[in-house]
Amino acid sequence: MIPIKDWHELAAMRVAGRKLAEVAERVRPVVQVGVSTDEVDRLTEEAIRGLGARPAFKGYKVGKAIFPKTICISINEQVVHGIPGKRLLREGDIVTLDFGLVDASGYYADLAFSVPMPGASARAKKLLDDTEQSLYEGVRLARPGGRIGDIGCAIQGYVEPRGYGVVTQFVGHGIGRNLHEEPSVPNFGKAGTGYLLKPGMVLAIEPMITLGKGKTRILEDKWTVVTEDGSLAAHFEHTVAITPSGPEILTTLNEGGSIR
Ligand code: MG
Repeated sequence: MIPIKDWHELAAMRVAGRKLAEVAERVRPVVQVGVSTDEVDRLTEEAIRGLGARPAFKGYKVGKAIFPKTICISINEQVVHGIPGKRLLREGDIVTLDFGLVDASGYYADLAFSVPMPGASARAKKLLDDTEQSLYEGVRLARPGGRIGDIGCAIQGYVEPRGYGVVTQFVGHGIGRNLHEEPSVPNFGKAGTGYLLKPGMVLAIEPMITLGKGKTRILEDKWTVVTEDGSLAAHFEHTVAITPSGPEILTTLNEGGSIR
């Protein structure tokens, strides 16, 4: 069953989404060469709690593994779910920040983007630009009467001809009173297939794209997902409501503008 949110619930999700966008805007300037990922984590938690919300990822369980931090920070060949720690950001790094909160209302919001540190290669920066654009290509098709497969097809159709790999082992998801709800939202697929999209569905759309092949593996910390071939990865995500007039991005302070 795919949960359909009424106007009241959508209003609560709008508030949660704006709060998360505000958190990202506050944290973004701190992400600099020489800063530890733990410091970014600390500031993110402070920002979330300061807005009367709670971290969505801290304490999140998959089997016996419990995610210990507030933000996921994934660097270079790390795709998603990197755990903050003592590591310092370095020149040339590609840094993916994945933010999540649950508001006092009980509704979740999920947002991610990758940023280049000074000295990142032109190819890496192009990967980020193209991955962000692929997100918007997918978002555009999150509209009533469409199908889940339309979204993945648009993302895949944008990045593969440009020579990138699509990560298939991790996908987007429905979101609402739970961080992960039905349906799955793959970043690949066939147009016209999968669930029918209806007003009131809310989706976390999140292309994960690499400079190499899309294959991934999980490190021994049980969380960090890396590309199997060691190639650079980028990840962009918005929480998007399907409204009668089309997609509405909830995790933004300036709809139509770049996340970064
Ligand atoms: Mg997500």
